[in-house]
Amino acid sequence: MTTAARRTRAPRRRPDRPRVAIVGANFAGIAAAQHLGSGYDVTVVDRSPWFEWLPNIHELLSGVKRPADLRLPRRRLVASAGHRFLRAEVAVIEAAAGRLVTTRGRRVDFDACIVAVGGTGETFGVPGADRHALPFKSVDDCHAIGRRLAALARRATPSSVVIVGGGLEGVEALGEILRRYRAAGWLHVEVVEAGRRLLPGAPAAIDASVRRHCAGLAVTFHTGTRVTAVTPARVRLDSGVVLRSDLTIWTGGATAPALLLEAGLADRPRQWAPVTQSLQSRRHDNVFVVGDAAGLPRPLRKQAYYALQMGECAAGNVARALAGRRLREFVPSPKPMLVAFGDLDTYLVAGRRVLASPSLAAGKEAVLQLTMAQLDPPLGADALGGLARRFAATLRARIL
Ligand SMILES: Cc1cc2nc3c(=O)[nH]c(=O)nc-3n(C[C@H](O)[C@H](O)[C@H](O)COP(=O)(O)OP(=O)(O)OC[C@H]3O[C@@H](n4cnc5c(N)ncnc54)[C@H](O)[C@@H]3O)c2cc1C
Repeated sequence: MTTAARRTRAPRRRPDRPRVAIVGANFAGIAAAQHLGSGYDVTVVDRSPWFEWLPNIHELLSGVKRPADLRLPRRRLVASAGHRFLRAEVAVIEAAAGRLVTTRGRRVDFDACIVAVGGTGETFGVPGADRHALPFKSVDDCHAIGRRLAALARRATPSSVVIVGGGLEGVEALGEILRRYRAAGWLHVEVVEAGRRLLPGAPAAIDASVRRHCAGLAVTFHTGTRVTAVTPARVRLDSGVVLRSDLTIWTGGATAPALLLEAGLADRPRQWAPVTQSLQSRRHDNVFVVGDAAGLPRPLRKQAYYALQMGECAAGNVARALAGRRLREFVPSPKPMLVAFGDLDTYLVAGRRVLASPSLAAGKEAVLQLTMAQLDPPLGADALGGLARRFAATLRARIL
């Protein structure tokens, strides 16, 4: 039997052990699964077969990455932790009864449940946004955008791309489009951001630097204005301006999935599930909510590394709760944020300080390669080669 075959075989049920269900198997859910030991009968449920590395999906727009570079098979990750993977959409979580039910009627009973369902795209009720703008939330989404851009490039007639949202995702999308197409004469990009500047929560120096890079390029920024409607070929702004658009990309934020409200883990639509600092639901003691879905007492940026830390913490707390022991508080360890701007620049944000250099892209790549290798050891030759090549670039950074 091959190693791969051994690692993907699902373990048998262990009726003698406490049953744990994990809903959602990306950063937070996989981390939780990998930190729950063999003393539990664990079922991990996700609607899709692939773990996806979302922080680099913008690179699918330029073709620097292919979908396979950003995915790992969930069944293998879960099996290598000694647990069972069920590919299914969870329709109902009945916390009081200790069971969840999938859309196909499969029932999973649990003594404790870890909910790691992340967020869902937010279009703020803007007419046409759901139908005519492409979302930017998954590998498939960004791969589809990459293909549409390539089709526009083949047409090579003057085309306009509108990016709705000038936050992290919007700026990273712009950077990748410019990496691949800035020398092409056919493309004009319009970026619309409701805040007064790009990356509204980050230091203003990034906004200034991005604008400097774009001076002389076919890019127009519309800040301090909102989109009011999207049609197949137009984007309307509240200022009255109407932008022509051959491709509209929607990067306008995330909100809480309806499942949290339906499961009684939240009190109103779009509310992240309230949890204690130990990540235990404030509504149901047998449920822990982790990652983006968690509404912590002190809100945190919705970031992958916090999701990983929360998954690990929740696994420990599930074990403690089931043993009747005292829970531990989740203590986030802050990390700098890396914002990529194609091959033009990368920004490292630590508090109010910003370091900028195209070669900092090696840092973002290192986080990707090393974390993927930790999730799915051993570190392969491809990953090692890529890592070495990128680190060969000189790290010359300037402070903004
Ligand atoms: C474009 C983009 C760029 C980003 N860049 C960065 C970055 O540079 N650095 C950083 O730290 N973070 C970044 N983030 C944020 C980061 O990706 C999230 O914080 C992280 O993914 C949260 O992890 P999670 O496990 O809580 O949720 P998710 O990663 O969203 O995973 C939720 C999982 O739950 C599953 N699921 C949901 N509902 C159900 C259901 N009903 N039944 C079954 N399965 C379900 C989904 O299929 C999914 O696999 C970025 C996000 C995006 C979208």
